[in-house]
Amino acid sequence: MICEILRPWGSPLLKGSLEFDRHHIWHPYTSIVDPLPVFPVASASGVRICLQDGKELIDGMSSWWAAIHGYSHPVLNRAINDQTAKMSHVMFGGLTHEPAVELARLLIDIVPDPLTRVFFCDSGSVSVEVALKMALQFWNAKGRPEKHRLLTIRGGYHGDTFHAMSVCDPVTGMHHIFSHALPQQIFAPRPQCSFDEEWHEEDIAETGRLMEKHRNELAAVIVEPVVQGAGGMRFYHPEYLRSLRELCNRDDILLIFDEIATGFGRSGKLFASDHAGVSPDIMCLGKALTGGCMTLAATLATDMVAETISGAEPGVFMHGPTFMANPLACAAAVASIKLLLDSPWEKRVLAIQDQLRDELSPASELPNVEDVRVLGGIGVIEMKGPVDVAQLQKFFVDQGVWIRPFANLIYIMPPYIIEPQELSRLTLAMAEAAEL
Ligand SMILES: *Cc1c(COP(=O)(O)O)cnc(C)c1O
Repeated sequence: MICEILRPWGSPLLKGSLEFDRHHIWHPYTSIVDPLPVFPVASASGVRICLQDGKELIDGMSSWWAAIHGYSHPVLNRAINDQTAKMSHVMFGGLTHEPAVELARLLIDIVPDPLTRVFFCDSGSVSVEVALKMALQFWNAKGRPEKHRLLTIRGGYHGDTFHAMSVCDPVTGMHHIFSHALPQQIFAPRPQCSFDEEWHEEDIAETGRLMEKHRNELAAVIVEPVVQGAGGMRFYHPEYLRSLRELCNRDDILLIFDEIATGFGRSGKLFASDHAGVSPDIMCLGKALTGGCMTLAATLATDMVAETISGAEPGVFMHGPTFMANPLACAAAVASIKLLLDSPWEKRVLAIQDQLRDELSPASELPNVEDVRVLGGIGVIEMKGPVDVAQLQKFFVDQGVWIRPFANLIYIMPPYIIEPQELSRLTLAMAEAAEL
């Protein structure tokens, strides 16, 4: 019904267009010669994705963690339209504008206190590059250029650009084919203590040993706090972060939190690091920053990091993307954050968490299921073996839901506005898929 109303042209995507797409356009992580099928979308509204053939899908993915308010939200649309009428873009070198200033104010207000300096960039991967460059330039400024390596934990994901790839999981990461061309970083074991198990200090012992051993060459430790996303959808103990902060202080190593997936409420707290009450020296934000309607990311740093970088040759931070602080994206982000903070987001995310726990946990009895886990607005069924993505994708679309599995994971992170009966359609489809 919603889909009919929203399809002004009414014309199905020409078969030729799908053929053209298949032959000429790269889609993520699939062959260009023999790609996985794609489904043409006509429009999207609320938690509904409307396919060209009129089929309605309930969205379980928030378009990769981003669309937390659902699609075509009138408040976000209005913010973008109003900003378009003023200007879509101006360069940020030598110029500034209200959307960037307002967004920076908002961010500084809601992130952990010591983070006060904001660098805007285009995408999550770039914000990770910026964070890593900041860390390297920081030690350079301190006269310690030998501190240029990074330590991370296995099972992580930090983006697709080169330095970001170098800290993705070296085995399961999608980038192992580049390993010969990447800087060799230091990998600590993946935390074993899960989010709601009892904490054992032993869980971070090896990480501590590695940090001590390499302290003279380590610029920074970078982790996704609490939730490891695209590297395996695992939730580890917040106490790990508290210990990690202490170890970084002990060994004079900067701490970077990549909150690109977890920021803006997804884990049940506004930022996943809030579970631990720990603040990093540098923090990356992206994905849900604009409520999923524009590409924008931000790297936030403490006064100490920012002032050290600017206190030595060349006296500036060496980065400046063409579309830095794009006004349209900043305006969307301002609107999205206000919308989030004015909404009962915490209650909504915790209600999603409760319902996911109730409805997914029976699947843990299924013979092919390895584990079922839930945190905040994230529900995961881990299978014992890899899933057939093309087959499952078609199954889900036939069920009227949009769920995109990868590797051995069937998982969802729906928009926070999803209604209980819509969420049940998603969990039912996941449980059925786990039985196929
Ligand atoms: C998605 C993601 C990135 C990369 O962001 P892009 O916008 O895709 O470049 C980096 N880190 C984490 C934790 C992510 O989930």
